[in-house]
Amino acid sequence: MRPIQATISLSALEHNLAVAKSKAPKSKVMAVVKANGYGHGLLNAAKGLKAADGFAILGLDEALTLRTAGYKQTILMLEGFFSADELSAISEQSISIVVHSYKQVEMLESANLTAPISIHLKMNAGMNRLGFKPQDFELVLAKLQTCKNVADITLMEHFATADESLGIARPLAVFKQAAQAHQYPHSLANSAALLRFPEANADWVRAGIMLYGTSPIADDSAAKFDLKPVMQLTSEIISVQTLEAGESLGYGHLFTASKKTRIGVVACGYADGYPRHAPNGTPIAVAGTLTQTLGRVSMDMLFVDITNIPEAEIGAYVEMWGNQVSVDDVAHSAETISYELLCAVAPRVPLKVFA
Ligand SMILES: *Cc1c(COP(=O)(O)O)cnc(C)c1O
Repeated sequence: MRPIQATISLSALEHNLAVAKSKAPKSKVMAVVKANGYGHGLLNAAKGLKAADGFAILGLDEALTLRTAGYKQTILMLEGFFSADELSAISEQSISIVVHSYKQVEMLESANLTAPISIHLKMNAGMNRLGFKPQDFELVLAKLQTCKNVADITLMEHFATADESLGIARPLAVFKQAAQAHQYPHSLANSAALLRFPEANADWVRAGIMLYGTSPIADDSAAKFDLKPVMQLTSEIISVQTLEAGESLGYGHLFTASKKTRIGVVACGYADGYPRHAPNGTPIAVAGTLTQTLGRVSMDMLFVDITNIPEAEIGAYVEMWGNQVSVDDVAHSAETISYELLCAVAPRVPLKVFA
């Protein structure tokens, strides 16, 4: 078997959920487990986050998987339903849905259901992705209030710049203005807002990336927020090469040695989810020592500099990210964000769960 694997720490998930609860003590925490639990496995993530007040996913299949596994808490479909034929299962299984479009309102109005559905009405307060503009909010709310298929209503918005210097003051004010005439609960904050802006911690918070132990804010480390890494992506060296000065490495000869250089070839490539655009110098650890990648990442392998790790031979343990190497640092080097790296871990990488 290829030696690559991703280990998932349930205690780190529990710890990070406790951090979210401590930062938003008056809010209910909705654990966002979309995208296969940010790459950690939907049921693995749910297991570690079972103390959450709710779960958020995208598809009905994920919602039903959680219900079938016995989770009784609120389960919210973040983009709502996509077609009217999903509504009966949503109603029967007490799944909550985001309502963001008139199309959805019409489908809700004309459905025949056994039980009404809890909805999160989404306001577009400036992100211009999903939701109703503030000036349309009253009209939609009036329709939903009289719709027989609607149970309770929560008002929701999503911030475009909670992790940026721009912050959330403007969209928060827009939301409050449009929502002030109503007594409905609010759901506003994502991880970045939860950590940075206590004023956004309303009845619900929707925590995603922080639960997986990475930082939602570019300039702050996860450790600063006391978040613990959940996934450790590891493999082994399967070949050792020695380059003389002037010799080059891998596809495109992206790296050329200026001196004698010892190279480890690691069983991990972009088909495992490691970013192909990670340049020479991306942090990685071999046999417990921090070092760097060299050359171009290939489909199934990548190269590490082991010149200063003489004990590293075939079989040496390699951590791509996890405890020694933060996924945020790898993401930064590859000019992306931890979200993308975690979600991209490929189905061929076995996920191993430990307490
Ligand atoms: C993904 C998502 C979240 C979680 O965002 P994080 O930055 O991972 O905390 C919250 N709300 C909505 C609507 C989302 O789509």
